[in-house]
Amino acid sequence: MKTGWNFHELYLWHDTGRAATWQTPGLTIEPGEHAENSATKARFRNLMEVSGLTDRLVRISSEPVTQEDLCRFHSVEHVERVRTLSQATGGDAGEITPFGQGGYEIACLAAGGASAVMDAVLRGDIDNGYALVRPPGHHAERDRGRGFCIFGNAPVAIMKNRARHGFERVATIDWDVHHGNGTQDAFYEDPGVLTMSLHQDRLYPKDSGDREERGAGAGLGYNINVPLPAGSGHGAYLAAMELIILPALHRYRPDIIMVLSGFDASALDPLGRMMLHSGSYRAMTAMLMDAAEELCGGRLIMTHEGGYSASYVPYCGLAVMETLSGVATGVEDPFLSELSAYRGQKLLPHQAAEISAAAELVQSIPS
Ligand SMILES: [Zn+2]
Repeated sequence: MKTGWNFHELYLWHDTGRAATWQTPGLTIEPGEHAENSATKARFRNLMEVSGLTDRLVRISSEPVTQEDLCRFHSVEHVERVRTLSQATGGDAGEITPFGQGGYEIACLAAGGASAVMDAVLRGDIDNGYALVRPPGHHAERDRGRGFCIFGNAPVAIMKNRARHGFERVATIDWDVHHGNGTQDAFYEDPGVLTMSLHQDRLYPKDSGDREERGAGAGLGYNINVPLPAGSGHGAYLAAMELIILPALHRYRPDIIMVLSGFDASALDPLGRMMLHSGSYRAMTAMLMDAAEELCGGRLIMTHEGGYSASYVPYCGLAVMETLSGVATGVEDPFLSELSAYRGQKLLPHQAAEISAAAELVQSIPS
């Protein structure tokens, strides 16, 4: 198995400044660390190095995307505003999306990393791959950045590669704990991309991610939201994969599968209230690899999104990378036995009810 790996030091230099989690500091809000800082990504990269796994992967370089690439999805106004602020001292790309000087270039590099991994898979240079990019992208909308995301890395990568390779069907699975509103927005009327999001119900954005959002026009039926109750764990996520995501993939039959991979549905995440552990991400990756093998020659790529536990993101990430590459590093997840013993890891009835309701959406994918 040839597995690609994209990382660039500049991803860590993206500067979200001082904050109290995401709140702007003031006289009654003490300055501290911004939730979206470089530590989780740096430590994921570091564990990959320490485990020896990076040496077994194919390094994929980042090529920054151009303004033309960005504007297949984003408005010129949004792109220009970020570029202008970035040349000065930085600013906010929209809603709670701070960045520093040079943030535009780093965001272009991140979208370029996702795009390069997708391109390498489509060319057949690698079988699958992961882009450990930053800033994340799945909340960014056409006209503004949102939720720590400046540009939509996944939509920009898909649109750029579609223009280059001319494939017809992409399926995206967003397992970040927050709703993938930006990706949904990008392809809402586009039957060429099946967008699916598993997320904590009404977390962020608080006004999107309902099952009723199913796409529009020619894209009707090609957007599937799976809002899960807070507290969902391993059993609930695996059931959602088995009953919704996998059947939807088989019905749609994509040419390539892309995962928007956030690790903030882990049990140790400060921004989410779910209970996944590294074994959950390992199992979900294996399920998608089987589906990709059966449907699209194994073509599966992942682009990094959220995940805010500096101690735990690396172990979730390593589990995914071991699975994608088929390499067992022997590094153990030191948290696994405790997290997997949490009561409520099994599928609970109220979660099963939500999953059954979302499973009905699979039948409305036009076949
Ligand atoms: Zn998230």
